Amino acid sequence: MEKIKSFQVDHRKLDKGIYISRIDGDIVTYDLRFCKPNSGTVLDNVTMHTIEHMLATFLRNSEFKDDIIYFGPMGCQTGFYLLVRGSVMGNDVLALVKTVLKQTTEHTGEVFGASEIECGNYRTLELESAKRACGEYLEILNGVNDIVDYNYVNSR
Ligand SMILES: [Zn+2]
Repeated sequence: MEKIKSFQVDHRKLDKGIYISRIDGDIVTYDLRFCKPNSGTVLDNVTMHTIEHMLATFLRNSEFKDDIIYFGPMGCQTGFYLLVRGSVMGNDVLALVKTVLKQTTEHTGEVFGASEIECGNYRTLELESAKRACGEYLEILNGVNDIVDYNYVNSR
């Protein structure tokens, strides 16, 4: 089997942050790493699921809504993938992610899509834990000035 791109980055060199995972033509995949890989800390399913609902909704209501291809959790529970059209500059993606994180931390009321009609497991949603995780991740991103790619991560 050919080794896929996301297995080629040395995960020991990844920290919490945001990375470009891969570029496929016009589509850029960003790695939103909430947890340091293999550190013993992962997002629990409820937190991950709620962040998926909140960030997907805010991203698809943002000024770049037509350029958002996909947002969803990593199976390893350490973060999320965000697929954006390549016409959106990296610094705009960074600003956008910070904005939707802030919107989530400030959200009051219902989790978006929290009903049996809208979701496949709507009982596993909980706003407070998502707000906490998004707030902590926003602190990390406030220390990031530009987004590096996996090749850069491997070379350092
Ligand atoms: Zn759901």
